[in-house]
Amino acid sequence: MNGMNKAVVSIVYGIALLFTGACLAFSVLELQKTGVPRLEVFSPLFDASGITGPFSQAYADVMELLFGWGGVEAMYAVMVVGFVLAVAGMFTGYPLDVKGVGNRAEVIWTERPNAAVRCLSGPWGLITAAYGRNRYLVILPIALLPLYGWWSLILTISMVPVFVVVKLVIGVMVDRARRRDREAYERDTQYAVCPVCKRNFDYPQVRCGCGIVLDYPVPGIHGIGRITCNNGHGMDCRAGLRDSLKTVCPYCGESIETRESRPICISLVGSVGSGKTTLMLSAVDSIQKSAVRHGVNTDAVTPGIGSSAIAGRMDVPATPEGELDSECLFIRSPYLHGRELVFNDISGREFEPRKDRFIFQEYYSYTDGIVFCVDPLNLDSRTSKIRPMDVFESFHFIFTRVKGFGPETVSNVPLALVLTKRDVTGVDDDGVEDYLRDNGQGEFVRILKSLFSDVRMFSVCCFEDSSRPVWWIMESSDPELVEHVPLE
Ligand SMILES: [Zn+2]
Ligand SMILES: [Zn+2]
Repeated sequence: MNGMNKAVVSIVYGIALLFTGACLAFSVLELQKTGVPRLEVFSPLFDASGITGPFSQAYADVMELLFGWGGVEAMYAVMVVGFVLAVAGMFTGYPLDVKGVGNRAEVIWTERPNAAVRCLSGPWGLITAAYGRNRYLVILPIALLPLYGWWSLILTISMVPVFVVVKLVIGVMVDRARRRDREAYERDTQYAVCPVCKRNFDYPQVRCGCGIVLDYPVPGIHGIGRITCNNGHGMDCRAGLRDSLKTVCPYCGESIETRESRPICISLVGSVGSGKTTLMLSAVDSIQKSAVRHGVNTDAVTPGIGSSAIAGRMDVPATPEGELDSECLFIRSPYLHGRELVFNDISGREFEPRKDRFIFQEYYSYTDGIVFCVDPLNLDSRTSKIRPMDVFESFHFIFTRVKGFGPETVSNVPLALVLTKRDVTGVDDDGVEDYLRDNGQGEFVRILKSLFSDVRMFSVCCFEDSSRPVWWIMESSDPELVEHVPLE
């Protein structure tokens, strides 16, 4: 049982025990005075004509009948033993059980299924405990009922008002905590992405140190400040305190990092050797340098954008074919809620015609922007195997299928059209469109601009900082990030 449940149970049980214990003490005193084992129950109805009068008399009659042979000494023992048996029932399994059913995590005592029945059955717990062991064993606690049933009844009745108040208060606390946390999550994070299967989802799952996988801990019936796995390990469930949890993709089950950072997904498109990977590494390098100057922390968690990859970016090997994990760069400062820059890089071979492209559906299911790289050495249809139009058609075929668009639908996802190898073309950003037209790509540019409403053209060179296209996408999807980590 976690700390919150211990506190809740202590309050409900504690008040009932105090009340019933006081009844026991006064009953013992009365027995001493009168020699009659009457039950002294504090109640507004406590008088000879009220409910407790006959109840008290019935107890005295039954006790005289059963144990009258033992005298007053026997009555003392009978009273105390009955009280102890009733209390012992409260600490058996059924009334204290807080294990979740759907999700394997502890539930707040007052919020579990049948909470009222479980709570109020506590003083009768010897019966449920015996039944749980062996159906026939239940005869024993039933036979003892004349001894402790009276005390169980007083305990049960005294718990009712306490349980009702505590349940109401906890209900209000859970609702408020849940609403606040949801607001904070929607403001700062919104959703998470899986760099392995590329799907996006509201919340990831978490893996406890003991291996149990739980739903993401948010305030609710499992807890307000902390939740507990069924092996008793606690974890924080409040926004801002969950960054260090080990998260798991709810779709593919892979361990992933999300750190409650808002993802910004950038998809790279282009033929083999068009410079996609180099451009990505240059962008990461440039973002990291700007971050350092502005007191912002970055953490490249995937090796594809690690420091050795960046150092060797002039001479990157061709990106392997097939589905690859996304590259993830986390960005955070005391003044900036966490961001996760996600790059989806694919081998240029995958854009060649007649390839099976269905495996890449998830690459574009969510994207904040597309960087489309064009290699100026691939423009001549006599010498080039794969022209920009071929790449675009392959990409657009997958893109529209994933988005459920018709082939003519205009997308408002920002698309950066990047002409690489400026050392070859000698043009600046403004000259890209004319350069492409002059080199037989007028139709390609026209179609691209008719299907994407937000196109910007860039001319870059791998010997310089070629991060501007990435920055442009970052700026359009997250101006606050660019304010804290500006391009210089
Ligand atoms: Zn996944
Ligand atoms: Zn655990």
